[in-house]
Amino acid sequence: MRLPAPDLQRLDRLKKYPLAAKHAPALRDFVARAQPYELRRVNPLYLAERLRWSRNETLDVLTYAVAEDLWRLHWEAYCPACGGLLQESGNLGDLHHHQVCRVCGWEGEIALDRELAVEASLSEDVRRFPPEERDNAAFRQTVQSRLGRLPALALVNRPLFRELLGAQTLPPNQSLGVERLVVFFSDLKSSTALYERLGDAQAYQLVRAHFDVIFQAVEAEGGAAVKTIGDGVMGTFFEPQAAMRGIAAALRGLEAVNQRHDLHGENRLRLKVGVHMGACIVVTLNHRLDYFGTTVNVAARLSDLSGGDEVVLSETLLTDPATRQLVASLGETRPLHTTLRGLSRPISTHRLRVGEKDR
Ligand SMILES: [Zn+2]
Repeated sequence: MRLPAPDLQRLDRLKKYPLAAKHAPALRDFVARAQPYELRRVNPLYLAERLRWSRNETLDVLTYAVAEDLWRLHWEAYCPACGGLLQESGNLGDLHHHQVCRVCGWEGEIALDRELAVEASLSEDVRRFPPEERDNAAFRQTVQSRLGRLPALALVNRPLFRELLGAQTLPPNQSLGVERLVVFFSDLKSSTALYERLGDAQAYQLVRAHFDVIFQAVEAEGGAAVKTIGDGVMGTFFEPQAAMRGIAAALRGLEAVNQRHDLHGENRLRLKVGVHMGACIVVTLNHRLDYFGTTVNVAARLSDLSGGDEVVLSETLLTDPATRQLVASLGETRPLHTTLRGLSRPISTHRLRVGEKDR
């Protein structure tokens, strides 16, 4: 049986996306030269390594490629006890929340950042392989022992993925758990007065500049700006240290905007930030994937407690000594005694004024 010739021109569909266009030639080259075992059920971290792209670049290009039917995803649940495959599907929504391992008997709920991993295969419309070259278990095993698996949350957390593929990834009536995520909310203090003082158009220019500062600072630390809410931002990070570095960079960046636009006193843009860490769920709402749960609600409430130029963070972020040390190096912290209404248990919180130590 003769296989059809590779149809690499299909990959040029990526050129219509400005973000993916510059990567399209390298990807086409890779697909043309790669061994069959490198293109089937491959860990996206391996693609990043081979193509010398950052993890986020790779995940975004892959998202466009999946949206254009050039690649497809495999969602896989692995047993946390023995590492065996529990279930796999091309649709994340098909995976059962509750799993029992047939090998070792482990039983429990699966989470997007823990048991779930994602891999990707090149579409057979682009390049077909003879059946005898389909088994790449040994190769995948080597990649996994070297690079680990890519947690499904790493892809699901990308803003581009949630926007383009979110709705088809998880049906609206389903949810999936995340065991641990850092969630932050930011808001501009007295933005109503700002609009009144400067007029809508000029105030909005500043608000836009402030969004850019936050988006860039968050992205630079591997986080994701999930959405804007009025003049505020909700975002996520996987690691507390990256979160605190990103948020501190946003506060410093906003101070630079104030100086650039000569904003003093009452006119200064002041950021209120709340950060919390814990479990949450991912659901599809308004055709996008979004995060919900107590952790998200608490983070929002903490940003309300901030007086401006200030981060209110929960004690949960400081349990790890390295994060505690990092936060101490960012500025002055003081315990904030407060109880959040509606919470069954009180949580300890701290105020952080970034850079205050050096002033
Ligand atoms: Zn097991």
